[in-house]
Amino acid sequence: MDSYSISKNSCEPITSVFIRLTKEGNISGDNEFTETLTSFIKGIGQMFYLVSPSETVFRDPKDAPEYFRNAWPYFLLFMCIENIILFIDNKPTYRLNDSLTSLSHGVIQHSGKLIFRGAESYAYFFLYQHYRLIDLNWDGPLTWYLAAIGVDFCYYWVHRACHEIHILWAQHQVHHSSEEFNVAVGLRQSILQGWCGFVFYLPLAFFIPPAHFITHQQFNLLYQVWIHTKTISTLGPLEYIFNTPQHHRVHHGSNIYCLDKNYGGVLIVWDRLFGTFASGKKDEEIIYGLVFNQPSFNPLHLQTFYTRYVIQRFNSMKSWKHKLYAVFYGPSWEPGKPRLGLDEDKVKVVPREKYDVKLPLWCNTYLLTHFCVVVYGFHLLAACHMGLNPLSVLAFVIYIIGSLTIIGMLFDNRRYACVFELLRCMIMVTAIQRLDFSAINISLLLTIEVFFTISGLFWLLQSFKVLQISNKTAAINH
Ligand SMILES: [Zn+2]
Ligand SMILES: [Zn+2]
Repeated sequence: MDSYSISKNSCEPITSVFIRLTKEGNISGDNEFTETLTSFIKGIGQMFYLVSPSETVFRDPKDAPEYFRNAWPYFLLFMCIENIILFIDNKPTYRLNDSLTSLSHGVIQHSGKLIFRGAESYAYFFLYQHYRLIDLNWDGPLTWYLAAIGVDFCYYWVHRACHEIHILWAQHQVHHSSEEFNVAVGLRQSILQGWCGFVFYLPLAFFIPPAHFITHQQFNLLYQVWIHTKTISTLGPLEYIFNTPQHHRVHHGSNIYCLDKNYGGVLIVWDRLFGTFASGKKDEEIIYGLVFNQPSFNPLHLQTFYTRYVIQRFNSMKSWKHKLYAVFYGPSWEPGKPRLGLDEDKVKVVPREKYDVKLPLWCNTYLLTHFCVVVYGFHLLAACHMGLNPLSVLAFVIYIIGSLTIIGMLFDNRRYACVFELLRCMIMVTAIQRLDFSAINISLLLTIEVFFTISGLFWLLQSFKVLQISNKTAAINH
């Protein structure tokens, strides 16, 4: 179902709430205010899996709302709150380059979904339709709770496989590629993440209806966003049962004791049961990020570099047996070693300086503004993609990914990034003049055209060194 035709039961994005309020000029009555407040509270509740079973059951998968996509305003709200707490606590707040890179991965992942159109779930639908073993009541609470636990149990194995199978890790490492640990990192995902795990969910298709599967998968992932924070130290007795920020901090550590631990989604009990649980150590600071950190803010590079490495490993092996092991065994496997490698062979990561590139304020402002425009473009595409032909959707998605990549290259202060940015601005101006954007307000379209023309002109002057606004403060710390 489209994000703009959500049912009454879905969470209403905060933006819609405010738009509705501003459109009408005032709150016409107590009822409307209560309704708005209820919708907002429900949206917040969904971030913590605090939802009413009776309001979140659907017979047809098409009726299941896009809970995750509609929750972006809540993600932004959580990020604001997190930053305020960090600021009050005198702790480092978000770095613009790192957080926009995280959000770029989130946009890229969701752009991919507009192309795949849920194709990764077709096998599930097929199995349920033809081979299901039990017909559970679609609106019974038992089915709802079984689905919640079943999805979380399978998520544990999906996540574990993503760490223990090299080719799956090549995708999942995107999520671990930030040296920070904050709510934005929760949205840093591979474009192919959905495809990495669909096989592991298939056993559920023998008894859990598809609409329940789709709904709970979204709640499960929503729950996992807010646990990416350093602002919550402990949740007391809840730590025994639930996955919490404290447990997930360990999961994101590259210290040896943190590797391949705490895979749980909502419940941590799976890790306690299957021997993969580890609690944080008070005397050892957690170092976030990959063991071999990638000094880059380019999302396309971060999405793809590891797959190239796996292919390289595959080619470097002499026998076919070893070639297959290089792809399907753990990332630390070496010939003659166990499937997941040995701890003594693993790199002992010590506290390190985070990768950073200092850019002038004007450049950061420019990049933030253009990032917001790209997100707005994604928002429009997501709203109308079902009415467009697949090739047009693909072209828009390529433009979105290309734009985010160039923004990342500018954050990295790459040599030819300004030339690519000039080209990007030219493509946008040409597209506005040649393509049909009648769905967009004419004055808004004109504003975007002027904005991109001025931006392009600026980078043209910059490319030919007519303007000499060099990054005097640029410094790359590896
Ligand atoms: Zn992981
Ligand atoms: Zn995580």
